[in-house]
Amino acid sequence: MKMNYNLESKETISKNTSYRNFPMVPRVIFGKGSFSQLGEILLPQRRNSDAPFIFLLDDFFENRSLANEIPLMFNDELIFISADEEPKTAQVDALVARIRENFDELPSGIVGIGGGTLLDLAKAVSILLNNDGLAQDYQGWDLVQRPAIYHVGVPTISGTGAEVSRTTVLLGPEKKLGINSDHTTFDQVILDPDLTQTVPKEQWFYTGMDCFIHCIESLEGTYLNAFSQSYGEKALDLCKEVFLEDHPEEAARDMLMMASWHGGMSIAYSQVGIAHAMSYGLSYLLGIKHGIGNCLVFQHLEEFYPEGVKLFNQMLSKHNIQMPKGICSNLSQSDFDTMVEVSLGMCALWENALGKDWKSIMTPERLQELYSRI
Ligand code: NAD
Ligand code: ZN
Repeated sequence: MKMNYNLESKETISKNTSYRNFPMVPRVIFGKGSFSQLGEILLPQRRNSDAPFIFLLDDFFENRSLANEIPLMFNDELIFISADEEPKTAQVDALVARIRENFDELPSGIVGIGGGTLLDLAKAVSILLNNDGLAQDYQGWDLVQRPAIYHVGVPTISGTGAEVSRTTVLLGPEKKLGINSDHTTFDQVILDPDLTQTVPKEQWFYTGMDCFIHCIESLEGTYLNAFSQSYGEKALDLCKEVFLEDHPEEAARDMLMMASWHGGMSIAYSQVGIAHAMSYGLSYLLGIKHGIGNCLVFQHLEEFYPEGVKLFNQMLSKHNIQMPKGICSNLSQSDFDTMVEVSLGMCALWENALGKDWKSIMTPERLQELYSRI
């Protein structure tokens, strides 16, 4: 009887394999000052006194009070990392080699504290510590065989959704591509809006707009479904409150942190769209960072996202943000070719934005023309 039952249930599962079965962050703590609980959260995860926690902290916090609040014990290590450049596969490999060299035991866990850059580094390092080879070997979809070691994400700036996503975006020798896997997602996230207090205004805007653009691209996409819509609409409402209304700063910090979370959840079960596909090209060729890159592109996408671009322009002017101009004015034809190729390689994003027929809608010539306006 039992056997039959098992066989039957296997059958039921195999019939439904067209639905993706996504992991979520199993534990999250939210609230002003919640960072102070990090030590007690990590305690039960410490395997023994030789298995350290490795803290990767954005070097903005070097010599600031947060660096003194890291709950170091035993042989734990605190590593400061610059977020001036987006994470690279070679950087992940170097960190993993350093950790393996310095400690006899595998760490108890990795804690990433910072923006999308630090969160992605923490995810990637925790995967590579328990999987052989190089980070570049795992860029793609579902290539990670063994679970990552325990990893915790603590965002200090809101917008990317990297705190909830199952990817870590890395620039490799050949491509900028995420390690998309069930093992990438954090085991624990700490959402303490106070940590975002020191974010400079322009950076606040650009990273916040990453969230806004996630919402628009998800909600306007052909992949939209009730799951994504429910999160996307909530995130969009929160973005409108934060960027178009006048709330006290503390309330706005809370709202943007939750907008980022919901925006990330929204794209889990759908995809981003044209701004992201084009921004990847800008980033690959010119090293332009994700948040500002999305904004540079999005301003020119009114024919695809009319309502979204209208709102975006209102937000820009309300916060008096001056975006750089002429980014693509001195590029050669071969530069454009590179960006167009990188961008058109993001098939799922284009299909989400424009439908199955996207290749006949977004030709290389049309895409180059869009780039040339930036
Ligand atoms: P970031 O981590 O690149 O940091 C941007 C700047 O803000 C840096 O100078 C940093 O030092 C500073 N900063 C961060 N917190 C601060 C604070 N509290 N006070 C003062 N300064 C602070 O910014 P981001 O926009 O959050 O992340 C961009 C990265 O995220 C890109 O590498 C992108 O590829 C990645 N990303 C990942 C995902 C994902 O799902 N994994 C999604 C979107 C973007
Ligand atoms: Zn994004």
